[in-house]
Amino acid sequence: MPDRKKLETLFETHGFFDYRWIEPASIVVAQWVRMKCLYGCPDYGKSAVCPPNTPTVDECARFFREYKTAAVFHFEKAVDKPEDRRDWSRGINLRLLDMEREVFLGGHVKAFLMFMDTCAACAACSGSRSDCKDPKRARPSADAMAVDVYSTVLRAGYPIEVLADYKKTMNRYAFLLVE
Ligand code: SF4
Repeated sequence: MPDRKKLETLFETHGFFDYRWIEPASIVVAQWVRMKCLYGCPDYGKSAVCPPNTPTVDECARFFREYKTAAVFHFEKAVDKPEDRRDWSRGINLRLLDMEREVFLGGHVKAFLMFMDTCAACAACSGSRSDCKDPKRARPSADAMAVDVYSTVLRAGYPIEVLADYKKTMNRYAFLLVE
């Protein structure tokens, strides 16, 4: 059992205060999420950490079953222009990566982060795992791992809704699988 108090101090040292512990078994994995990636997402095949460059839905479900402790991190933001989302996401994802590394170095060898948005580390993503320009830091988002983020965060008591207007406040979520 991880020392949650110690981890909470670490999360907060990195500036993350809005998080909740969840049971990894409560993470909802669904085939429909992958279908949304396959059909309708303009980024399909263009990111090295999105489908088809992610495990199958069954493999994702199996992966989550290997964990007993996880935390979900909540971020909210309204942007003036759709393109502003990228810089905001990039900044948070890089900070989350620093936190993941410290959790790992603290002895949690299985620590694995799922970004709160698609990896935006590079101005233009390579689109393939083998050509990823920063493979050490690239991580998938939860939806790229077939997570039904809506159902999962609602179970955790967090808000989420479909936004018809990009100017409305987004609720986005990152996940840290601990052990
Ligand atoms: S590090 Fe760069 S190339 Fe790799 S997944 Fe992220 S944006 Fe794409």
